[in-house]
Order: sequence, then structure tokens, then C-alpha cells
Amino acid sequence: MKKPPIILTNVLLFILTTLAAVTLVPYEAIMFGFDGMEILAFLLLTGFAGMSITMGYHRLWSHKTFNANPVIKVILALGGAFALQNSILHWSSDHRIHHKHVDDNDKDPYSAQMGFWYAHIGWMLREYQASRYTDYSNCRDLQKDAIVMWQHKYYLPLVLLTNLGLPLLLGWLNGDIWGMFIIAGVLRLVISHHVTFLINSAAHFWGKQTYTDVNSARDNGILAMLTYGEGYHNFHHLFENDYRNGIRWWQFDPTKWLIFSLSCVGLTSNLRRCSDERIEKAKATMQLKQAQERLAQLPNADELLHTLQHEYDLLLQKMTDFYATKKRLMDIRKRKLLLGYEKLDLDFKYQELKMHFRLQKEKWIKFNSMRFA
Ligand SMILES: [Zn+2]
Ligand SMILES: [Zn+2]
Repeated sequence: MKKPPIILTNVLLFILTTLAAVTLVPYEAIMFGFDGMEILAFLLLTGFAGMSITMGYHRLWSHKTFNANPVIKVILALGGAFALQNSILHWSSDHRIHHKHVDDNDKDPYSAQMGFWYAHIGWMLREYQASRYTDYSNCRDLQKDAIVMWQHKYYLPLVLLTNLGLPLLLGWLNGDIWGMFIIAGVLRLVISHHVTFLINSAAHFWGKQTYTDVNSARDNGILAMLTYGEGYHNFHHLFENDYRNGIRWWQFDPTKWLIFSLSCVGLTSNLRRCSDERIEKAKATMQLKQAQERLAQLPNADELLHTLQHEYDLLLQKMTDFYATKKRLMDIRKRKLLLGYEKLDLDFKYQELKMHFRLQKEKWIKFNSMRFA
């Protein structure tokens, strides 16, 4: 089959930025060195671009796992243009198709079944998506979001403004425009590109299938360290409406921590979580499946499989009982809390009425004791 034509802009962009990063950065480092401010700016701006994609493009806009204050949305939209990964609208449209048709080579824009290179970067180098390039019918909700549409309309100027403006401004302030541009502009861009690309490639190849094996997505703690928490991709593909990717407190997911922290000061809200029961059940079912495959090889497989099934059924029963009771307990606690508020309210009203009554009574007595001539 003949391959579709090459997208020259993308190919040149990736080649030139990569070449610049692997030649100019080491040259600058050896000849002149980078100072502390340049390294700090590089780290902060890498994080800004990366988290704008994970928190903004991915968890906020593609999956709507929480709501955000407009100020936060504008910052994330600018950071997304800075990361140079197409507009929010386009990225989210691709990503929603990726979830809906994951691993389907005809539909999934970055199907892992096409190989590591294709899922990582190859899909952007040729006109594979030409037929639906401007079809955003799966993002009608985002088309109503003024910030999304503003960023889409002014995407190119915003790309230039952030990618040139930020490093050049910081460089000027620091007294070395070129050095800052090389490290916080070019190297930062190449790194934040590949960090995101790894989620489409590596997170569909390496790691554990903890919750499901109906798609190629994997949980990978090491990858989570590089991708602001998105390495827990197996969980994410099954529970895409959850604002978390690493659900345990110790799992490295700075995107989750940032969304949660912002919710404590009211800048994000309605953080969505899938129920613990559904998550636990998916995990147990996967463990059953994997154990069944292991045990099937053994000589006394029948007996072992029977016991395994029995233990699994018991586990599920106890799980259901536990979560049902937990829910009842939470309901009661909630009601008690409400009752507490009601009591407080009533107490206040009681005191108020008591005072009014006393005053009126005094007035009444006074009135009655008046001598009417
Ligand atoms: Zn996703
Ligand atoms: Zn994926």
C-alpha cells in the first residue's frame, strides 16, 4: 500500500528542533555553560508545558474530569500552545477517538498496533488523518468553550508568542538571550514533545495490565515519573472520567496533586472519581484472569481452578457487602451532619424568638400597667 504524503511542516519542525537540541545545547554547555537561572527556567517551563498538556488538554478538556476557573483555563491554554501540540480542540478530538477506538488501526489516530514509532511520532509525519482533519463533531462541548475556541483561532500567534516571547524575555532579563533560548526554548520543546509522545507509545507497550486487557494500555510507574503521572495508563483507559491516573496516595501523579491542591483554594471543582468498588472489582477480575492462565499449565489445574473461582466468588461477595455497608455508614454520617446543621439553625431561631417574645412581653406588661386617664 502506498503511504500518504509527508507533512513537511511537521517533519521539518521535529528534525530541526531535535538537531538544534542535540548540537547547540551541548555546544553551548561546553563552551559557555548554563547558569542557575537558565537551568531553573528550563525546569519550570518544561513543567509548565508538560502539565498544561496533562492537566489541561488531557484531564480537563479531553475527559472533563473536573471544572476549572477561567484564569486557570487561560494559563493552561497558553501552556498548551507553548508545548506546540496543536490546539486544544484538535488534540482533544484526536484523543477522544483514541479512547473510543483504541488499537483500531483504521480509526485510532495513534494506534499502538501500528508499532512503537508510529504511535510515538510516525502518525504526525504523514497525512494519515487528512480525511477528518477539521471534523470536530466529537467535541461539540468544547466548541462552546470560549477559551478553547479563542486558542484554536489564534493558535499560531499564541505558539509564536509563547515559544519565542517567554524564553527571549527571560533571557533578556537574565542577560543572555541566546543561552536561554537554546535551553528553555528549544531543549524544553523537544523534551516536552517526547514526554507526551511516550504516553501514546511506551504506555501502550511496557508495563502492567492491572485493570483490563481489552486494550494495549499499560500501568508503568517509571513512565509516570517522566510524564507527570500519566504513566498509569491502563487505569486511565478503563476509568477515563477519573481526574486521577495514579490512584494510590503514593503513586507519582503530580497532575492529580495539582488539580487537588487547586480545588482546596477553589480554582478547580467537581473533581470526578470512579467508585472504589468498580476499581477494586476490575482489579480482582484481572487477577482472576491472570491466575487462571498461570494455573491452567499445572497438572492439577482443574482442582486449582475450581478453588480459585470459589475464592474469587467469595471475594466479590465480601467486597459487595463491604461497600454496601460503607455506603450506608457514609449516608448516616451525612444525615447526622445535616441534622447537626439543622439543630444549630433551630437553636439560633429559638434564641431569637425567645428574645422577641420577652421584649414583646415586657412591652405588654408596660402597656397594661399604664394608667389610662
Ligand atoms: Zn485519555
Ligand atoms: Zn492511550
